[in-house]
Amino acid sequence: MRRIGVLGGMSWYSTAEYYRVINERVQARLGGHHSADLLVHSLDFAEIRRCQVDGDWERAGKILATAAEGLVGAGAELLVLATNLMHKAANAIEEAVGVPFLHIADAVAEEAARRGARRLGLLGTRPVLEERFYPERLARHGVEVVVPTVATRERVDAIIFDELTVGEVRPDSQAELRAAVAALAADGAQAVALACTELELALTTAELPLIATARTHALAAADAALAG
Ligand code: GLU
Repeated sequence: MRRIGVLGGMSWYSTAEYYRVINERVQARLGGHHSADLLVHSLDFAEIRRCQVDGDWERAGKILATAAEGLVGAGAELLVLATNLMHKAANAIEEAVGVPFLHIADAVAEEAARRGARRLGLLGTRPVLEERFYPERLARHGVEVVVPTVATRERVDAIIFDELTVGEVRPDSQAELRAAVAALAADGAQAVALACTELELALTTAELPLIATARTHALAAADAALAG
């Protein structure tokens, strides 16, 4: 089993999910008292959030690259970045270290293919839906994305940063997320990727099949560690 390095804390609520899911998978596959060989570097999310708000992706990339180097220095043999949005700075990590980096969108695209969904609705933070770095990565696998209206994108972004990343799950927001999934279904999506790792803490069922990105990514990390 290879040692997994998790770049986490963005936010810690979903990083805790990675820790649990990776260990559950390793135990299910190896049995007995087996658990994952795992390192987590949990960053101070306030510092990362500052970079996002300032649009300082260079600084964000430096913080992530330094943390990635630390994990590899401590023996990590493969890395995952436990957030969708921060994959905007994934290049900085890949340039800093030589170990495999498991991109979250690759894991999501594989799961979409497994479910037979080529038209995938996306819910997440605004940059994930509005910029190219995430949909382009999915497109490499032949996955086409459907995104919500501007008004819904703004609301979902606010639900993520004002509520979910500070640990609040509100029933009225959950209803809004379900309505956003229904609108994506009406636009022809065959499944919806919850492309923010906190969304699966608020929404587990809706009108379409949901791809929980933290869970999907964590399972891919565990399987990659066991394949090594
Ligand atoms: N965890 C979220 C995501 O998966 C957003 C938090 C962040 O990294 O800014 O995109």
